[in-house]
Amino acid sequence: MGLTRLPGLLFGGDYNPEQWPEEVWREDVRLMAEAGVNLVTVAVFSWSRLEPRPGSYEFGWLDRVLDLLHAHGIAVDLATATATPPPWLVRAHPEIQPVDAAGTRLEFGSRQGYCPSSPVFRAATVRLARAMAERYREHPALAMWHISNEYADHTAECFCAESARDFRRWLQGRHRSLDGLNAAWGTSCWGQHYTDWTQVEPPRKAPGPVNPAQLLDWRRFSSDALLACFEAERAVLKEVTPDIPVTTNFMSVLRDLDYWTWAAAEDVVTDDAYPDPADPRAAVKAALGYDLMRSLKRQPWLLLESAPSAVSWRPVNVPKDPGVMRLHSLQALAHGSDGVMFFQWRQARYGPEKFHSAMLPHGGTATRQWRETLALGADVRRLAGVAGTGTRAEVALLLDWDSWWGLEAPESMPSDRLRLHELLLSWYTPLHARGIAVDLAPPGRDLAGYRLVIAPNLYLCTAEHAAALAGFPGRLVVGPFSGVVDAADRVHEGGAPGPLRDLLGVRVEEWRPLPDGVTQEVVTADGTALTARTWTEWLDTSEATEVLARYRGGPLDGRPAVTRRGTATYLGCLPEDPAPLLDGLLTDAGITGVTGPGLPAGVEACRRGPYLFLLNHGAGPATVPLPVETGFTDLLTGRPLPGGPVTVGPRDAVVLEPRPTP
Ligand SMILES: [Zn+2]
Repeated sequence: MGLTRLPGLLFGGDYNPEQWPEEVWREDVRLMAEAGVNLVTVAVFSWSRLEPRPGSYEFGWLDRVLDLLHAHGIAVDLATATATPPPWLVRAHPEIQPVDAAGTRLEFGSRQGYCPSSPVFRAATVRLARAMAERYREHPALAMWHISNEYADHTAECFCAESARDFRRWLQGRHRSLDGLNAAWGTSCWGQHYTDWTQVEPPRKAPGPVNPAQLLDWRRFSSDALLACFEAERAVLKEVTPDIPVTTNFMSVLRDLDYWTWAAAEDVVTDDAYPDPADPRAAVKAALGYDLMRSLKRQPWLLLESAPSAVSWRPVNVPKDPGVMRLHSLQALAHGSDGVMFFQWRQARYGPEKFHSAMLPHGGTATRQWRETLALGADVRRLAGVAGTGTRAEVALLLDWDSWWGLEAPESMPSDRLRLHELLLSWYTPLHARGIAVDLAPPGRDLAGYRLVIAPNLYLCTAEHAAALAGFPGRLVVGPFSGVVDAADRVHEGGAPGPLRDLLGVRVEEWRPLPDGVTQEVVTADGTALTARTWTEWLDTSEATEVLARYRGGPLDGRPAVTRRGTATYLGCLPEDPAPLLDGLLTDAGITGVTGPGLPAGVEACRRGPYLFLLNHGAGPATVPLPVETGFTDLLTGRPLPGGPVTVGPRDAVVLEPRPTP
């Protein structure tokens, strides 16, 4: 059973028929069928067309669209259409428009113009979701519900008076009393002691740095406030159509929403991923996002939006070279997506996304883009057997949104150069280059089954987190500036690494962040020299702690930089390239890449079920050594391969299925 009741992999994109006359719809469905499209996302921004006046619905056009799609064998990921409230609602209730941190109420005319805490907005979305669910509950094209769109893309938080009231209610639930709030927020500092709940406001623009504990609670609240919008619609959909899976499209590695909590509230994880073709790190960043999506519910997910070629919202929007759309799509499949979907089907003629690429471009079918769309559809059909298969990872990277939010509080940290996404990438990149499967995990999750767990940073670390890590029997790595504060952003008594002190056998005396461009040499016990940037620490070690590397030169000369106690390694610095340390850990843990050692640069290797994906992101051919004793079939070409080294062309891929030896 896949993500939906559809067999095989999903292929399609966002479809906005309301932007086109009906005769174009008939051409659309004919071309969709030709390309092998089996799922389209419909009605994401259709509220003002579906409910042009309060309570007055015009479903006729959408009925015809769904009937037409169904008649051509195409299923629908049906949006609840609540991503942008209609003009009549905004003009009747201007208070539903969001307010920014400086107090400016944002105007209608873009999208996502709503206050997440507005009862008027929430009630209107629930009414529309119910009308949609009741209208289409029996429609045979309905395969999945798509609530709203890209939550937090434009409106991650709102600072209006209604949001302030909602924030106070949320705070009362978390802290119970005003005394509890004053203690948690440390309001004795800078004279912020509150004597009445009405004095508590969102962290709007203030003369100087805002209280970081207030800001941490605000980020938690803002994620929860949007989640409440999602859950209100979800409850209606589940009541009317209990068997239809519900999703909302995530945005890869996004700071604003705690996706662990969000994923638990949905049936299927879906993602919108837009790696920049001009970014040399695009492939590794995309891979990290995809592995997060697979890890959220520990099941296959769906790439619901990606760009066939250029996007329209970067300062410079570089198109994808021939073959790159296919390569990026196969990459998502390799990392657990059960399909490939795009924004969008037919390229728009107007609006902010008129220059965003599409499966069917302005130039129509006599284009490279259309030929590549057809070819990709055929490839996706050849890989139908991949649907539903899983990935087994022996390495997990820990990711905790509370800690992320705390770490990136502005204007109050030893250095603002510690950015969690980059810290994750610093470990993920060498693992990816070695063809090693990686899961992401929250610190509280059961880590049984992993051999190596890496916490690139755990700034906020509770006693429960520490206990879970202490109980993990495999190799553990903890990065610098971890175990610093508790759940309320209060520094642990005795200093870092707080509740991790016994486990790691270190005590941090001083943080010594490095200015940009300054480096610090670090030398391992076997004489390997590493270069640290951005961050160093003055560490004291306990007797049972082994020193794996020491600083050389500078004020920390000779002091411990990397330590190990039992199976737990601590880094007091940020090596530019942690690969030498990583290789030792991988050897100790008995972990090798899916193709064994020796993956050529630019080649990505992923195992999914019995299938081995080899993706060559490089500009030249690459030869990957594989066991000689196993023969393969390349599912993309049907070509049998005898076993032994496989050569993959530039920007090409093979998907290998092992053949039983005769
Ligand atoms: Zn608001």
